[in-house]
Amino acid sequence: MPESSTRRRFLRQSTAAATGLLFAPALIGCGRNNAASTEDSPVPASPPPQNDRKIGVAILGLGGYAKGQIAPALQLTQHCELRGIITGSPDKIPEWQQQYGIRDENVYSYDTMDGIADNSAIDVIYVITPTATHRDFAVRAAATGKHVWCEKPMAMTPEECQDIIDAASRAQVKLSIGYRMLHEPNTRKLIQLTKDKAYGELRSANSYAGYAGNPPPADYWRGQRDMGGGALYDMGVYTVNGLRYGTQMSPAAVVEAFQRRQERANGVDLTTTYTLRYPNGMLAEGKTSVVEDYNQLHIEAENGWYEMKPMQPYQGVKGSTSDGKTLGPPVPNQQSIQMDDDALAILNDTEVMAPGTMGKADIAVIRAIIESAETGKEVEISN
Ligand code: NAD
Repeated sequence: MPESSTRRRFLRQSTAAATGLLFAPALIGCGRNNAASTEDSPVPASPPPQNDRKIGVAILGLGGYAKGQIAPALQLTQHCELRGIITGSPDKIPEWQQQYGIRDENVYSYDTMDGIADNSAIDVIYVITPTATHRDFAVRAAATGKHVWCEKPMAMTPEECQDIIDAASRAQVKLSIGYRMLHEPNTRKLIQLTKDKAYGELRSANSYAGYAGNPPPADYWRGQRDMGGGALYDMGVYTVNGLRYGTQMSPAAVVEAFQRRQERANGVDLTTTYTLRYPNGMLAEGKTSVVEDYNQLHIEAENGWYEMKPMQPYQGVKGSTSDGKTLGPPVPNQQSIQMDDDALAILNDTEVMAPGTMGKADIAVIRAIIESAETGKEVEISN
């Protein structure tokens, strides 16, 4: 059924908000929407939506994260409804339709997905496929006139990220990256400590995110460099983004970096360590792995420290400070908060909390880390 003109107006609203420039202030911080605020949070609560319409979400890519986290989390949202699926695996369709009551007319393949432009039940396409496929899927998603949510890491290169930003801008739709930690209430308390300079000027920071798994197999995308596999893209992006929101600064250079790679063609990094330098001279350390366990974001300031430990599991994120405060309690479901925040940004036409410019800036850091590891030299980060 063709969209009504009202519907088209709705989808094309907020031209400026879809551009990177308007989002630039959010590059090192968070937007003002925060449905996640708790009573003792210093972050103001999100304004209520101007209407009670629910945002219809179509998930593109029905893999582990979509099935295990996002679809169940959508059931817990206030402002979203899982209405559609876009998949390259027809065998998955019956189970998804049955479990979530997805109507036949809202089921698409990668070949037919462009037709979603005429489906007024769908407002958002959420791209949850291997990282190297994000650019093409997200650009196509934006071209349908639907808002785009894109999983982290945003894409393989800053140029690919820019393609997605440009596509969203052209289509006048909102673009949000799946950085769930930016929506997590306890993490937001840590962010606020930095914004308030609650412990004085920052002195240093570190961020570690790794899990002790088996090296990823070569026949799976997580085991392939050119698909976005490996520790740095998969887990390291949490440390890069964590240092960004934890310090509220963008790094100027990668001072040094080291990668331990699988010894085979297209072998991914199993562990990466790196040192960043900020424009004010401050240093931060990052470490990420798919074979070692660690998980923290630690900020040292002139009058004390504060940290999230662990910093990014689905559940149990918790913070503490040098003077004995706890940043808690853990929230039951981060992804539902994330998607409600992103839905409210659409309903209220406000800035998203994790814009494409932020996703692109993080990928620029990741590319600089790789270059530094490969050349043994300091690498400036161009934003
Ligand atoms: P997965 O391997 O479990 O699923 C990937 C899905 O993409 C599969 O359904 C697969 O069929 C489909 N796909 C589409 N095109 C493909 C192609 N060309 N090659 C291979 N598969 C293709 O992966 P996942 O764990 O669901 O991760 C998907 C994305 O979500 C990644 O970008 C990942 O970084 C991100 N992710 C985010 C979080 C988070 O906490 N935000 C957690 C897990 C994964």
